[in-house]
Amino acid sequence: MTSTESRSPSGETLSSGILSAMREVLGSPSQMIPLHEPEFRGNEGAFVAECIETGWVSSVGSYVTRFEKDLAALHDLPHAVATSSGTAALHTCLAVAGVEPGDEVLIPALTFVATANAVSYASATPHFVDSEPRSLGVDAAKLRTYLLEAARVEGDRLVNRATGARIRALIATHIFGHPCDLDGLKELAAEFHLVFIEDAAESIGSAYKDQPTGRHGELAALSFNGNKVVTTGGGGAVLTSSPAHAERAKHLTTTARVPHRWGYTHDEVGFNYRLPNLNAALGCGQLEQLSGMIDRKRDLSARYAASFAEVETARFLLEPEGTRSNYWLNALVLAPEFAGQRDQLLTDLNDANYMSRPLWTLMHSLPMYSSCPRMDLSEAESLESRVINIPSSPRLADTPR
Ligand SMILES: *Cc1c(COP(=O)(O)O)cnc(C)c1O
Repeated sequence: MTSTESRSPSGETLSSGILSAMREVLGSPSQMIPLHEPEFRGNEGAFVAECIETGWVSSVGSYVTRFEKDLAALHDLPHAVATSSGTAALHTCLAVAGVEPGDEVLIPALTFVATANAVSYASATPHFVDSEPRSLGVDAAKLRTYLLEAARVEGDRLVNRATGARIRALIATHIFGHPCDLDGLKELAAEFHLVFIEDAAESIGSAYKDQPTGRHGELAALSFNGNKVVTTGGGGAVLTSSPAHAERAKHLTTTARVPHRWGYTHDEVGFNYRLPNLNAALGCGQLEQLSGMIDRKRDLSARYAASFAEVETARFLLEPEGTRSNYWLNALVLAPEFAGQRDQLLTDLNDANYMSRPLWTLMHSLPMYSSCPRMDLSEAESLESRVINIPSSPRLADTPR
């Protein structure tokens, strides 16, 4: 044994054990298996063709209306507002939530950059919080301890003691589709007068205690980017149970145009964030396939879980107890003593045609966010050094056993 290459108690090296578990599930591919491929097995083509034949390709059209209705029904909510991206949906959520320039918004350091960028678009400052290893989502107990010290409640405002800024909202991400601690975070948000927003970009079809993710926050954002479980090519949606929020989201995303038969007047600075009909048509076809795709993704994840049960150097990340994950991206968490071999493992996996990648660089390590306020982020930093994603497309469930 060399100092750079740890072995597990039974003597396997990191890569050898993990490669053999991968082979058990995916065989030995001769071409690269992508991380997550879109899949169009249903009416997607027919619906898109209909847009072209009828000329209804842009931001007004029956598929936008239908897509919004289907999304609302899927989440058992009265309202969904389709947007041109998930980032646009998050930005809209923040605007609707009343986040003002100079406010701070609590977000996990462990998330995709879109969460932080949306806060910046609202002229607010991201304030980074730590995660817990079970769901990879925000650690409610640790955040509570931190806020009791670092902030004070003034009436119905939470104020950062160090910066003097108002902390207005909390955005929680359901990482890789695994629902985060929604009960704990909702309770915390109520205690500290925070607007609670779900970044459900990765978790369409996931559930927390039998309730879909995306219906627990005052507002939630979905993404339909090409690598997500449901894709519209590019797109997103705002979810809310509030008719006033939904109306405002629709207004802001349609250039704040005052409704009129022929007049063009706008009553504030709005955004061109509406989803085109062409993309919504693709989304309607995709939603018809959602439960089948999730069934196959969960089948794949169960096969990974069984195969990795014997591996001592890493654990397969399972859905937290009491939740049902869409398993958007399957993930392995390396044992701490193997963190130093992560990059060698990634090289070996990609060389063997299993596309794999590390966690996103944490937000506070990115140059534009390095001076933002933050709490102790030791768990997120530990996870960053040890979590990798492995191929997750639904079609992989069709791999012969
Ligand atoms: C994909 C994603 C978004 C939104 O991304 P878009 O590409 O703008 O649709 C936001 N947050 C998270 C956590 C995501 O994974």
